[in-house]
Amino acid sequence: MDFFFVADPLMSPTACVLCMRHQDPAGFVDVGRDLHPHGHLYVCATCAVQMGARFGMLAADDAATLAEALAERTAELMEAKRQLESASDRVLVSRRGLEDIVREAVKT
Ligand SMILES: [Zn+2]
Repeated sequence: MDFFFVADPLMSPTACVLCMRHQDPAGFVDVGRDLHPHGHLYVCATCAVQMGARFGMLAADDAATLAEALAERTAELMEAKRQLESASDRVLVSRRGLEDIVREAVKT
C-alpha cells in the first residue's frame, strides 16, 4: 500500500477521514483510495501522529531532538574513548620505565 504526502486534500470531500479537518499545517496522507459515499481518503498529520504514538512511534520533532542528543552523546563517547586510549598508552610507557628502573636496581 502506497501513501502519499499532500499539503492539502484536493479531492472530495477535501478533509481528513477521521477528524474531518480541511487544513493541517503539517499536511495530509493521501491513502490512494476512495470509499463510497465518503469520497477520497485522507488522514491529516495530526491524526497520523496520534495513531503513530499508539504504536510507540515518535513525532518528527521528538525524533529530531533525540537524534541530536544521540549525536552529542556519541561525540562525547568518542572523545572519552580517545582519552582512554591516550591514558592507556601513557600507562604502558610508565610501566616500561619502571621495569627499566627495577632492572638497573637489581644489577647494582
Ligand atoms: Zn485528522
